[in-house]
Formats: sequence, C-alpha cells, structure tokens
Amino acid sequence: MQSVPSSKLPHVLILGAGISGLVGALRLAEKGHPVTLVEGSDQLGGLGTFFQHDGRTFEKFYHCMLPSDGPLLEVMETLGLTKDIYWRPSSFAYAGGGSIYPLNTPVDLLRFGPLPFMDRIRVGITGAWGRVCSDKGLDEITTAQWLQGLSGKRAFSTFWQPMLEAKFGDRFQDVPALWFWTRFNREKGESKGEVKGYVRGGYKRITDTFATRLKALGVTLRMNEKIHKIDLDATGHPFVETDTGELRAEQMLITLPWPTLQTLATDAFKQRADVPDWNIDFQGVINHVLFLKRPLTKHYWLATPEREHPFDGVVETSTLTDEADRGQGRHVVYLTKYVHRTDPRFNQPEEEIKTSWFAALQKIFPDLRQDELEADYLFRAPFVEPVYTRGFLKKRPPEVLIPGKVALATTAQVYPVVTSWNGSVIQAEKTLGAM
Ligand SMILES: Cc1cc2nc3c(=O)[nH]c(=O)nc-3n(C[C@H](O)[C@H](O)[C@H](O)COP(=O)(O)OP(=O)(O)OC[C@H]3O[C@@H](n4cnc5c(N)ncnc54)[C@H](O)[C@@H]3O)c2cc1C
Repeated sequence: MQSVPSSKLPHVLILGAGISGLVGALRLAEKGHPVTLVEGSDQLGGLGTFFQHDGRTFEKFYHCMLPSDGPLLEVMETLGLTKDIYWRPSSFAYAGGGSIYPLNTPVDLLRFGPLPFMDRIRVGITGAWGRVCSDKGLDEITTAQWLQGLSGKRAFSTFWQPMLEAKFGDRFQDVPALWFWTRFNREKGESKGEVKGYVRGGYKRITDTFATRLKALGVTLRMNEKIHKIDLDATGHPFVETDTGELRAEQMLITLPWPTLQTLATDAFKQRADVPDWNIDFQGVINHVLFLKRPLTKHYWLATPEREHPFDGVVETSTLTDEADRGQGRHVVYLTKYVHRTDPRFNQPEEEIKTSWFAALQKIFPDLRQDELEADYLFRAPFVEPVYTRGFLKKRPPEVLIPGKVALATTAQVYPVVTSWNGSVIQAEKTLGAM
C-alpha cells in the first residue's frame, strides 16, 4: 500500500493523464492539494499523444485549436504558451462525384454540383438557421429528423447523411440534433472565416510544459502504471489496483475513458456510484498519417463521405502547421475513419489498411505517385467519443460519483460541448467545482 503525502487539503488520486487528468492535476495542485497522477502509458496527453519521425514529433491523431476554445486557451496562458500559438485561415472542401468542391462561403454552396440547385438553397438556409436558432428541445429529436425538416429528404440523403454515417456508421439514426447543432456552431462560429490554431513544437510541447509545471507543484507522476481494478474497501473507501499494487487517497478523480471505467469498476463500486446509465457505447477511430513530398490541396479538411472511400476525411494539417514544426518540404496528411472497435475494419492488419487507403487516395488525386510518399504510420483508438442517443443529456454521468470520495471528468460528460481538449477542460473545471 502506498503512503499518503501530508497536507491539510485532501490528497487526490487522479486516474488517467489525458488533458482531463492534466488539467485536474494542475488546478488541484495550484490550490495546494497533494496530487498523485496515475497513467498507464509512457506519455502524457491521451488522445493528444505523439510519435517521432525524423527528429520531430507529430500527433498520432490530428489536433488543432479554435479561437472559440476559451477555457483551453486560458490553460495555455497558465502554462505560458499563449505566445507560441499561431493561427492560420482554414478551409473545408467536399469530395464528390470525382470533383473537389470548396464549401466555405454561400457562393461555394451555390456552386456545389452534387446537389440540385434548390437543395443547395435549402442546405444554405439550414446553415443560416442553425446559427441563429435556439438549441431548446434539440436533445429530444434526432439530427436526421431535424435536418430532413430543414433541408428536405433528398438533400439530407445526398449531403448530410453520408457525413453522419461517416462519423457514427449505421447508428447515425439516433444521434440527437443537439450534437449536430453544437458541432456546427463550434466549427462555423467565426464571422471572418474559419481560423485554426497550433502550438509551436506541437502538442508534445503542451504536455512537456504540463509535466514541468506539475512536478514544480509537487504532483507525483506515476507513468507506465496500468490500473486493473477500481474498488471500494470494507469501510466504503475507494482504491485502485495497479501493476505495482494498491493505491489510495482521500479523494479520487477518474478521467479514464468511460468504457475503461465500466470494465475496471467492481460491482461494489458500481452499486455505490450514482450513475443513471452505465451503458454508454463509444466510437473508435483509425488515423493513417502520411508524410508527402507535395501538397494535396489547400484545404485543412476534405470530407470524403461517399461509400467508395475507405476513410471519411483527408486532413491536411500542413495547411496549418509551420515548416519548422514538420520539416522542410514535408506535407502532412491524416486519413481518418471513425469506426467501432468491434467492426472488422478496426482490426484489419496495418499493412492492408495502409496499402488500400493510399490506393483510394490516389483515386481522388490521380497524379499522386507512390514515390511522393516519404513515410506513413497508422494509429487506432478504441474510445474516442460516445455514440450519442436521443435524450443524452439525461444519460450523462454526473460529476460526483460518490460524494466526498470519487469524482469524474471524462468525455462521456462533455456533451453537448464538442469532444475536444477545450470540452475536456470545461468538464474538468466543472467537476473540480462539484468535488
Ligand atoms: C482523430 C481525433 C482527432 C481529434 N482532433 C481534435 C482537435 O483537433 N482538437 C481538439 O481539441 N480535440 C481533438 N480530439 C479530441 C480530444 O483528443 C479528446 O476529446 C481529448 O483528448 C479527451 O481527453 P481525455 O483526457 O478526457 O481522455 P483521453 O485523452 O482518452 O485520456 C485518457 C487517459 O487515460 C489513460 N488510461 C486509459 N486506461 C488506463 C488504465 N487502465 N490505467 C491507467 N491509465 C489509463 C490513457 O492512457 C489516457 O492517457 C481529437 C480526437 C481524435 C481521436
């Protein structure tokens, strides 16, 4: 059994060192709490972790910030990183019927060939209405119902449905309209055109700065220590079992992905915890990262929702990042696919995915040659965000699981805010307020 540091404030054991755990540790340690942060992997940052290539680090899953990410930007300020964030105009395009259509302005929409003219107008009205309408009641109706009502059945099935299917597969039917409304308003919230931000040195710079700051505040970082069980002892006090033994503290803050908590929590723990519904399923993702010797497009995001493409989007992060952060003449492209961990595609052998996805990319860009590929990498994450269902607001797990003892800050609670580092910061701060 591990010893408990001495302090007047309760010692908090934080499970998981993604952005939620890192922000939790930072804010608690700033207040003077003794904090122990337990992380199963050898990196801080969870879904924002990195890999190395040619002397630089890159995110395993594409990451950027938006000007509307206020709470995250405040954390960047606390870390002294504001001066190192740079912003670039960003654009979106849609690959359909063999062409690439920019979709950033009303004029782009009027030129959008895959839709009949009247449907373009209705999609435009949907967008304009989506920005001004209230979100009241949208959790209770599905995105499909809401968008069909606004854009019409044909525009829905040609334009919106493939994008929803790309994200949720055949479970898109039950996704609440509130999810769509928030996402739409976050990404299109800029009146002067879309802008995205990145930090000099990449997201590793952020997690390295966290590590330095947390150590200076006296936080104990226990890396490579996997948690196997979350339980309650005979007195009702929570503890965890890890690779090295038992860990306990006066309070516990859980930031593990929800399905992991579902698996690790014992029945005794689940019975005490105040959770409306343990059955929240999660969507996974595959990212195929390509280092190219040439650019593909000028767009940060190219949606490829048509069924013939094995991925949902081509995210060209080098339209945002400086050469200093990626290497001279190197263009970085992420092919991304949301897919459930039980889908055979999630477990397809790495080389099969790499070969078939690159061939599919060449169909969109027929002049892309194999010798223009410098290197590529593949990453998978089983737990990215909930498969939302109607009425999800009532399903969201609470901030406090066991009063005075166990609190929760995880992606399953972030809704209707978009799952993102910003959403996790908002949630972590809300949870700390409730602890
Ligand atoms: C493809 C993709 C693109 C994205 N793009 C963006 C973007 O552009 N901008 C943005 O802001 N966000 C983006 N996100 C979302 C963002 O990464 C997540 O919302 C956020 O990282 C969630 O943080 P978290 O700390 O709650 O969870 P996680 O990051 O999942 O962290 C959980 C932590 O718990 C640890 N853990 C799990 N099991 C155990 C165990 N048994 N024992 C010990 N430790 C354990 C994990 O190793 C991990 O460190 C993206 C995500 C993906 C997948």
